[in-house]
Amino acid sequence: MTPLERALRDRIQAEGPISVEAFMEACNHYYYATRDPLGARGDFTTAPEVSQMFGELVGAALADCWKRAGEPADAIYGELGPGRGTLAADALRVLRAAGFVGEVHLVETSPVLREAQAAAVPDAHWHEAVDELPARPLLLVANEFLDALPIRQHVAGIERRIVIAGGGLAFDRAGETVETSPARDAAVAAIATCLAAMGGVAIIIDYGHATSAPGDTLQAVRGHDYAPVLANPGEQDLTAHVDFESVARAATNAGASVTPLVTQGEWLNRLGIGARAAGLANTNPERSDELASAVQRLTSSEEMGDLFKVLAIHSPDWPAPAGFE
Ligand code: SAH
Repeated sequence: MTPLERALRDRIQAEGPISVEAFMEACNHYYYATRDPLGARGDFTTAPEVSQMFGELVGAALADCWKRAGEPADAIYGELGPGRGTLAADALRVLRAAGFVGEVHLVETSPVLREAQAAAVPDAHWHEAVDELPARPLLLVANEFLDALPIRQHVAGIERRIVIAGGGLAFDRAGETVETSPARDAAVAAIATCLAAMGGVAIIIDYGHATSAPGDTLQAVRGHDYAPVLANPGEQDLTAHVDFESVARAATNAGASVTPLVTQGEWLNRLGIGARAAGLANTNPERSDELASAVQRLTSSEEMGDLFKVLAIHSPDWPAPAGFE
């Protein structure tokens, strides 16, 4: 039994069944606090870890937006759940080259990952939660962040909970499941409120669906494979698909504008990933194969290209970033 399962069983015995939301929050908090889960030897690999081109194109989209907004000098770079800091380092290289000198503010709860981020992005500032970001014009990115925030599940209108049964953890009911995520909506509302008041743009990349629909999307990943959701609490990554309709609603309710939702493949192609790969291959011919396979992995519909979607939220006073129309 994992240490967290012991603690969760004690909690259920003392307080009664716990919600999916409380379970997911406890599991992910423990999971991220105790390891760097990324990369070949970890549990999963994210787009910025596949290739520098991902972060560079995010940086180029943000730099272009910042320039068209008149290069506000007090703007900051912000990122939610920056992992190893790879995306921030790649995006900032492009932003710095474009003349952006603003501060870097990272929202990260894991001490292990904060350490990795400090190595990749010296002089960053860290925050525990989205609403602690300073009130300044914001160039923000969140890749695979919202999927890690806890969801609630309801079956026939009743909240789904986790109980102890047959000597292990079990769901208390099954059936058509409706998911909501107050934690996600609150994070998006906090960002959108800041964007509406101070100016700026946020680029959100994640797996999920364009319109709200019933379905159980809670999943666990361990060692690059799916695992049973209730197995090994705290030792595997728990995520749920992002309901982008709900994200867009939370953003517009807070006074921000949203772009259409596009697939990651479409977005990266429109931003010129092909030309970027060709340019890099030209100066590094020995990397041609690696670059071609990275483009394939990031954009092809059989790999990350269609599953992952991109949405931008921006101040009504700022232009929408490139790649969405
Ligand atoms: N964006 C990175 C990492 C994605 S993994 C990449 O693309 O590689 C999810 C990240 O979100 C990790 O950095 C994790 O520690 C962080 N995280 C998860 N839940 C969080 C929370 N509630 N608050 C802040 N950060 C969180």
